Amino acid sequence: MLHSNAILASLSTSDTAALRPHLKATHLPQNTVLYETGDTIKAVYFPMSAVVSLVVSLASGEMTEAAMVGRDGAVGLASALDGKIAMCRAVVQLGGDAMVCDPVAFRGTALQSESLISTVMRHEQTLLAQAQQSTACMANHEIDARLCRWLLRARDLSESDNLPFTQEFLAEMLGVQRTSVTTVARTLQEAGMVKYARGKIEILNVDGLREGACECYETIKQQYGQLLGRPHQ
Ligand SMILES: [Zn+2]
Repeated sequence: MLHSNAILASLSTSDTAALRPHLKATHLPQNTVLYETGDTIKAVYFPMSAVVSLVVSLASGEMTEAAMVGRDGAVGLASALDGKIAMCRAVVQLGGDAMVCDPVAFRGTALQSESLISTVMRHEQTLLAQAQQSTACMANHEIDARLCRWLLRARDLSESDNLPFTQEFLAEMLGVQRTSVTTVARTLQEAGMVKYARGKIEILNVDGLREGACECYETIKQQYGQLLGRPHQ
């Protein structure tokens, strides 16, 4: 079961043995807020089928996704080490299963293990790289390419072609007007890439989405590949 999350699967035998007593399986329903900006991190999540958005919100109420975390990552990992507050909002965008760990127990285990600390640091670097890529993407890439990229990553992490997203939610994640999402979604549907009906998107043509997506999709995929591909100590 631990292998359903790539971070847990990448740990050494001794790190896995040390963490195992502190891990328990949980289900994260869609739209659950795991923490708000400024909250103290109370749990570390290792998503298996759940997908979590790290979201930055502005005083005006506008929200934009900085990173999407799923089975290739973890939520609240580095913050657990020093009890720091959450720097953004974490919300479950696709309900599913996750392993959850008490942050105090995680910190205690990590402080005994150089290899676990190393995993945490590499994960944070990858997360930061994803957030930086999102910023560059938003400033430079067209909405249609960004939506293709976003749907592909959601599909990869959930391992499902059926994504229960409303257009309001997609607009929020991409930081654009809802009318823009409506227009782009219609174009993708007319091209036979997706089927959109009442808050649900079905992906019909993955290759077509890959062709339409901006480079950020592959860049982030490669960064996570490097994170998980490096041999542990
Ligand atoms: Zn992009």
